[in-house]
Amino acid sequence: MARPLRADIDLDALRHNYRLAMELAPDSRAVAVLKADAYGHGLVPCARALEGLAPAYAVACLEEAERLREGGISAPIVLLEGIFEAAELERVEALGLWMAIHSDWQLDALLARGPGRPIPVWLKVDSGMHRLGFPPERVEAAWRRLAEAPAHACDLHLMSHFATADAEDTAYFRRQSALLSELAERLGAPTCLANSPATLARPESHGAWNRPGVMLYGSDPLERDNAASRRLAPVMTLRSEIIAVRELPAGEPVGYGGRWVTPRPSRIGVVACGYGDGYDRHAVDGTPVLVEGHRTALAGKVSMDMLTVDLTDLPQAGIGSEVVLWGRASNGEVLSVDEVARHCDTISYTLLTGVLPRVPRRYHGAPGNAPDPR
Ligand SMILES: *Cc1c(COP(=O)(O)O)cnc(C)c1O
Repeated sequence: MARPLRADIDLDALRHNYRLAMELAPDSRAVAVLKADAYGHGLVPCARALEGLAPAYAVACLEEAERLREGGISAPIVLLEGIFEAAELERVEALGLWMAIHSDWQLDALLARGPGRPIPVWLKVDSGMHRLGFPPERVEAAWRRLAEAPAHACDLHLMSHFATADAEDTAYFRRQSALLSELAERLGAPTCLANSPATLARPESHGAWNRPGVMLYGSDPLERDNAASRRLAPVMTLRSEIIAVRELPAGEPVGYGGRWVTPRPSRIGVVACGYGDGYDRHAVDGTPVLVEGHRTALAGKVSMDMLTVDLTDLPQAGIGSEVVLWGRASNGEVLSVDEVARHCDTISYTLLTGVLPRVPRRYHGAPGNAPDPR
């Protein structure tokens, strides 16, 4: 028998979540954010599953866009950080990509280009994230330069990113939002502003386009419980099995450093999954795990290839029992990657993108654009 660990990817759930993003923003179009190998879910299979549903995709760099084109994806693809050097413009045009422009050098490079097809441009404003984009007072000049160069740039949109759309405190979000509304109105510019939390909970930010990412994979980025988020379906299930069982008296340490000590006579299950697969070594004792669809807890430090769970209250569980580290168990029980992330002092994004290549991905659900079974 092969090592039982795998990541099951539910493409029907991906489509369900994309449809939710559309339903929440009926006047916008949603570009499906597929950067970082579709948040660890597999770039091309996820793009194919959204074909005919998502009118455009977004990635972080030209290399990711090239992989999509090689995978047969013909829809528009936005480069969220634009080009990294002027020489990339040729490929941008040849592959029919759209690009963000966040810096003067990118703008200069585009306008200095020789004859070719104009490239659709999303001009990025730094409205408060202070990472990429033109400062607000310089946006109008950049916008005018692009608008006056129709041979080089077309389909201009104003793009920006929110620093706190997930937070319960909306003060900073409202400050960014007000600045952007004023700019968009003054320029008569269509916008692309909303990430997942804003798509889910800040309808005032919905523009011509939204940019949902993590929500497509079934993770809820919002701090506060939210009716829309409860409709998200997990896409990845990280699944393995119990490969050994230990019966121990009270007072015995388990695993490296003996961090966890049996508080009573205990049954310990050893699971084929460790940090060498991408399961976070920061997971604390008590991190939830599903065994045969029942919640139990991590007991002891995560090792490279294995981790240990408490089976004392699950007498029916033994070697070969199904273990779900996050996602949906065979009995339908769900353990959200967000809950696991909270026990690892991190966010779902790092767990999902952190599943390493040695974990085989298995795809389920129709590969193309099938009707939503839910
Ligand atoms: C990653 C990214 C997104 C998607 O963010 P989520 O929080 O995953 O929805 C949107 N816009 C930009 C510019 C990004 O880099």
